[in-house]
Amino acid sequence: MRASWKLTRIAGIDIYVHVTFLILLAWVGLSHYLLRHRWLDVAEGMVFIIALFAIVVLHELGHALMARRFGIRTRDIILLPIGGVGRLERIPDEPRQELLVALAGPAVNVVLAAVLFAVLAASERLTALTDMTLVGGDFLSKLMWINVSLAIFNLLPAFPMDGGRVLRALLAIRMNYLRATKIAARIGQATALVFGLLGLFVNPFLVLIALFVWMGAAQEASIAQMRAALGQLRVGQVMTTEFRTLSPRELLSEAARKALAGYQRDFPVLEDGRVVGVLTQENLLSGMTARGLDGSVSDAMQTSFETADPSDMVEPVLARLQASNCRALPVVREGRLAGMLTLEGIGEFLTIEAAMDARRKRQPGATRFARKSAT
Ligand code: ZN
Repeated sequence: MRASWKLTRIAGIDIYVHVTFLILLAWVGLSHYLLRHRWLDVAEGMVFIIALFAIVVLHELGHALMARRFGIRTRDIILLPIGGVGRLERIPDEPRQELLVALAGPAVNVVLAAVLFAVLAASERLTALTDMTLVGGDFLSKLMWINVSLAIFNLLPAFPMDGGRVLRALLAIRMNYLRATKIAARIGQATALVFGLLGLFVNPFLVLIALFVWMGAAQEASIAQMRAALGQLRVGQVMTTEFRTLSPRELLSEAARKALAGYQRDFPVLEDGRVVGVLTQENLLSGMTARGLDGSVSDAMQTSFETADPSDMVEPVLARLQASNCRALPVVREGRLAGMLTLEGIGEFLTIEAAMDARRKRQPGATRFARKSAT
C-alpha cells in the first residue's frame, strides 16, 4: 500500500503503518496537552495509542495465524487510524475454517482482557468502566476495557466486522454460500440501520460507523454473487470465440478500421498461428498518437500478457487478468488460439447469467447458460 512504512515483520508477515496514523498520534498528543498543559499527559496519551495499536496487531495476527493453519498466507497487515487490516490471500472455502479464522481475532482480545482482569483483580486496581477518564486513570484498566470493547465491537453480526463472517460461516454450514452471504448481509444492514438511528440521538460518530457497515455488507454480497456465478465455471465456457485477429505486420490504420467495424476492443496478434502479442484499445490509441496511422501493429502491441487454457477455472484466471496491466487474455490450447477472455466479456456473461437465474427461479430445472459446454 502506498504512503505506508514497514514497521516490522512478525511470524513472516510484514506489518505496515499508514502515514495517517502519525496524524492520529499527533492529534492525540495535542488534545492531551491542551487539557492540562502537562507533557506527562502527552507521553501517556501516545503510549496508550501505541499500546492500543499493538493490541490491534495481535488481533490481526490471531486471524493470520489461524488462516495459516489452513494453508492460507497473509500478505501483510496495515495499521490505519480506523484499525488494522490483514490482507489474507483468499477466504477459506470451508465454512468451518472461515468460522475459526473469523473468531481467532476477537478471541485474542478476550484472552488479553482475561489476563489483564486477573492481574488487576490480584492487585486490587480494577476500575469500573464508568470511572474511566480520557487523561490519567489506571493504564492497565484502560487496556482491559479496550480489549472488552474490541471483542464486542468486532463480534457485531455485520460485515465487514468479524461477527459478519462468523454469522455467514454458521449459516453456510446449513445452506449454500451465496444464500448465507445474502442473509448475513441483510442482518448486517439491519444492524447498521439500528446503529444509524441510535447515532442520530446519541453520537454522530455512530452514523458514520453505520454507513461504513452498510457499504461493507453490500460489497460483501456482490463479491459473493460474482464468486458464486463464476465459481464452477471454466475459461472455455466464458471466453469469446468470435473475434478478429491481427498480424504483426499490419498497419495501425488497418487495426483501427477493424476496431471501428465491430464491437471488438482488444485484438490478439498472430504470427504463423501463434499468439505473439495483444493490441488493446489503449495500445492502438497510444500507438496512433506516437506513430500515426502508418505505424505497424508490432510496434504498438503488448508482448507481455497472461494466457490461459480453456479447462482452467475462471476465478484464478480472472484474478491474474485483473493483476496484469493487459485487459485481454488470449486463451490458448495446444499452442493455438482458442478464444479471448476480457473483463467486458465476463461482465456480459454475468449479466446474461443473472437474467437466466431470474428465469430459473420461476422455472426450476431450466439449464444453466454457458457460451459453450465445458471442455
Ligand atoms: Zn478481526
